[in-house]
Amino acid sequence: MWRIVRSIAAAGVCSEPPPDIGAEAAEEAHRIQSELLATLGRALTIRQVDAGSCGGCELEIHAMGNPYYNLEGLGIRFVASPRHADLLLVTGPVARNMHAALLRTYEAVPEPRLVVAVGDCACDGGVFGAGYATAGALCDVLPVDETVPGCPPPPVDILRGILRAVRRRAG
Ligand code: SF4
Repeated sequence: MWRIVRSIAAAGVCSEPPPDIGAEAAEEAHRIQSELLATLGRALTIRQVDAGSCGGCELEIHAMGNPYYNLEGLGIRFVASPRHADLLLVTGPVARNMHAALLRTYEAVPEPRLVVAVGDCACDGGVFGAGYATAGALCDVLPVDETVPGCPPPPVDILRGILRAVRRRAG
């Protein structure tokens, strides 16, 4: 045990210094989260579905959980089950082999459910478009409340899109 502690102390901090996203972006992310919670009056739960993404949009969505954006720390949570979700966050053009799974997930989210399309692919088919393998834009498959264009969109834009969807539903 002490040998391990001594070797950790000798090695020091090996990780790189954290990147700086800028005070403005960090402040805006915090403001959006506070407004989201104030509008809803409770936590927002999100189920994310990759309907055929290249993975780029997921990296940005995962970044919302890091200490700069601290999404979960402020009470906005990603959940595993659509039955526990308020909002469906969808990426990618809708791949034909994800079509049925996406519809089933959508139907499992309790009303009033919100749907946000993240990334150019989900917004309009993006670089993949519609074809034999993909249905293209999410709005051709499901009713969409809000779109977040970009390839991929940064976390602050995704937060803005979520806030717009929540505001619209709140009236
Ligand atoms: S919008 Fe860009 S990053 Fe997102 S899934 Fe499509 S190609 Fe990938």
